[in-house]
Amino acid sequence: RDKGVVEWKYATCGYCSTGCAIEVGLDAQGTAVTTRGVADAPVNQGKLCIKGITEAGILNAEGRGTEPLLRSSIQQPWETSSWGDALDTTAAEFKRIQAKYGRDAVAIVSTGQILTEEFYTLGKLARGVIGTNNYDGNTTLCMASAVSGYKRSFGSDGPPGCYDDFSHTDCLLAFGSNLPEQHPVIYWRLKEALEKRKFPIIVVDPRVTMFAQFADIHLPITPGTDLVLLNSLAHVILNEGLADEDYIAAHTNGREEFFELVQRYDPTTAARITGIDEDTIRNVARLYAKAGAAMSIWTMGINQSTHGSDGVCAINNLNLITGNIGKPGGTSLSITGQCNAMGTREWSSCSGLPGYRVLENEQHRDEIGKFWNVDPEFFPKQRGLFMTDIFPAIESGQIKALWLIATNPMTSMPNTGRIRKTLEKLEYLVVQDSYVDVEATQYAHAFFPASVWAEKDGCFTNTERRVNRVTPVTPPLANSKPDLWIFNALAKRWDQADAMNFPDKASDVFEEMKALSVGKGPNGRERMLDISGMDHDKILAQRGIQWPMREGEETGSPRLYTDGVFQFPDGKAKLLAMEWKDNNEKPDQDFPFWLNSGRVVEHFHTRTRTGKVGNCNKYSPTAYMEMNPDAAAELGVEHMDYVRLVSRRGDAVVMVQLTQRVPYNMVFVPFHFHDCVNRVSLGLLDPHSRQPAFKQAAVRIEKV
Ligand code: SF4
Repeated sequence: RDKGVVEWKYATCGYCSTGCAIEVGLDAQGTAVTTRGVADAPVNQGKLCIKGITEAGILNAEGRGTEPLLRSSIQQPWETSSWGDALDTTAAEFKRIQAKYGRDAVAIVSTGQILTEEFYTLGKLARGVIGTNNYDGNTTLCMASAVSGYKRSFGSDGPPGCYDDFSHTDCLLAFGSNLPEQHPVIYWRLKEALEKRKFPIIVVDPRVTMFAQFADIHLPITPGTDLVLLNSLAHVILNEGLADEDYIAAHTNGREEFFELVQRYDPTTAARITGIDEDTIRNVARLYAKAGAAMSIWTMGINQSTHGSDGVCAINNLNLITGNIGKPGGTSLSITGQCNAMGTREWSSCSGLPGYRVLENEQHRDEIGKFWNVDPEFFPKQRGLFMTDIFPAIESGQIKALWLIATNPMTSMPNTGRIRKTLEKLEYLVVQDSYVDVEATQYAHAFFPASVWAEKDGCFTNTERRVNRVTPVTPPLANSKPDLWIFNALAKRWDQADAMNFPDKASDVFEEMKALSVGKGPNGRERMLDISGMDHDKILAQRGIQWPMREGEETGSPRLYTDGVFQFPDGKAKLLAMEWKDNNEKPDQDFPFWLNSGRVVEHFHTRTRTGKVGNCNKYSPTAYMEMNPDAAAELGVEHMDYVRLVSRRGDAVVMVQLTQRVPYNMVFVPFHFHDCVNRVSLGLLDPHSRQPAFKQAAVRIEKV
C-alpha cells in the first residue's frame, strides 16, 4: 500500500551476512516507513527476506535507548545522565579498576553488528588507549571456528569463495546449514543458478531442515561426528585415486600424514559412528571428487561443536585434495552469521591487531604502534581471553568491569543461568546498545544509547568479502549516538589518546584502514586484505566491492587463492591430520534426547530487533520444540503440550510441535528466545576457537 514515501535512501541490511542492499523509504516527515531491495545490487538484485522487508520498523521501535543512564549500584533505580557524565564516570571507573586490579581487569565484549569503521576505532581504543587484552566479540559464538579453521589450513582468515560460485559449481555439499531459513537470499541465488544448470545438492544435517528437503541427497548425521564423515570422504577419494594429486603436490603440505590418518576412517567404520551407510559415503565422495568443480558451504552445524575448528579444516582438506580452492565453483565457503561478522574479523583487533595482524608478531605490533603513535611495548604479546573465557574470569574475580557492545549474553550464551549470576559479580558493567530493554541492562551501572544501523555512516563486509555501504538514512533517535561517536568521546577521557588520531568521519577512518591494508603478507606477496583501491564513494557506486581491491584496480576480487599461493611463508596450504575425539555430552538413560538448536526465518539472533517487528512476531510469536511423534507418544506428550526441557545445566518450559523433521532421539528448539534453550545448552568449548558446542547437549523431557 502507499506509505507516502517521498525519498529512498541506501543502506545494507543490518541483520544477516548475506549483505543485501536495501533502500529505506522516508515519508514527508522524514520517518522511515518501509524498505525495498536494490535492483542493481550484485548480491540480492532487488530481493529481501522478511527481516529485510520489515527492517524500517526497528528504527522507531519500542525499547530504543534515548538517553544515557547511570546508577551507583544495580539495586538503585536508573537516573538519566548527560553524555559527559556517563562517559566521565565510565572512564573513571575503568581507570580505578585497572589501577587496583591491573589493566586486564576491564573486559570488552563487542559484536558483529556495528560498522567496520566503528570496529576499527573500538580496536584502537581497546588496544591503544584502555590497554586491556581481554577484548573479544560475540563472533566467538558463531564464526570463531571458521576463522580458526581458515587460519590453520590456509594461513589466514578470509572466505575464498563467493555466491557466484553457485553458477559454476558441479556439486554443492552443505554442512549444518539451513540456507532457506538462515540466509534466504543466498538460497535464492542458489535456486537461480540451479534453474540455469542442474547440479547435485547434498545436505549433511541431523535434522530434516528445509534445505535438506530441497536436497538431492540428505545425510542425517549423528551430531558431533562430521569430522568422521569428512575424514572418510577423504579416505575414499585418496584410496580410489580420485584426488587431484598434481594440485596436492604443488600447493599443499602434509599429504603423507593426512593419508595415514584417514586410513582409520574407512566407510564401514565411519558408517558405524556417523549413522550414514557406507555406500552413501562412498557415493558422495565419488560424486564430489568427480565433479569438475565442487564447493562446500557450512554454518553453525560445523562451527558450534567441540571440534568445530577441526571440522572446518576437514572441509578445507576435502577441497584441497580435490583441487577445489580458488576456482569458479570450487571453494570452502563459510556462510557467516551477522551482518558484519566479517568486518570485526578484519578490522576490530578482537583477536589481535587490525588488518589480520596478530599480537604474537613483533613486526605487526611495531607497524600498528608506529601508525597509531602508541609505544608497541604497550601491546600484549599474545591474545587475551575469548568471550567464552571472559565470563568464567568474571566469576573467578579476575575481571571486575565489563563493557558490552550490541551483544546480549543473557540470551545468547550457553547456560544463561550462570551468566546472570556472573554479571551480578561485576563492580562496573556498561551496556551499549540501541535498545535499553536488552536483558543485561538489568545488571548494568551505565547504559549508552547507541544509534541503530541506518542512522550511521560506514560499511559492512558480507560472507563473500563484499564491503558495502550503510548511509545515514535518518538522524539518530533522541540523544542516541553513533557507536563511532561514543568510542571517540570515551577515548578522549585518557591522556594517551591526545597523541593519537581519532577521526570523527567514517570516511576518514576508512582512509586509515586503507593505509594499513597495503604492504607484504606472510608469504612475501601483497597483503591479501588490501582495500587500498576502495573508498566510500566507489563502494556506494558499485553497490559493494569484494576485497582485495588494490590501488589502481577498477573493482574487487571474487575469489582468493586463484594462483594456489596461500598465506603461509612457503605459500602452501596445510592438509591437517585430525583424529576425531568422542568428547561430546551424549544422550544417556537420564537425558535420552539430543538437543539441537537453530534459527527460524522470521527472527534474528536474540530478537532484540525482530522481537519488536510486527510481522516477524506474528509469524513466529513464541519458542517451540520440535519432537518426533513416536518419542512423544511413548512419553504421552501431545502436539502443543507444554513440557519441561531439562539438562544438567537447567530447565526451560516450551511448547511441543510434533514433526518427523527430527529423529526419534532428538529435539530442536529455536535459539532466539530469552530464558529458553540456552538455559539448558552446553558450554563445552572447541580447544582452538573457544566456540561453544551449542548443538550437542543431552536433555530429557518432563510433562508439566
Ligand atoms: Fe537481510 Fe539477510 Fe534477509 Fe538479506 S537475507 S534481507 S541480508 S536478513
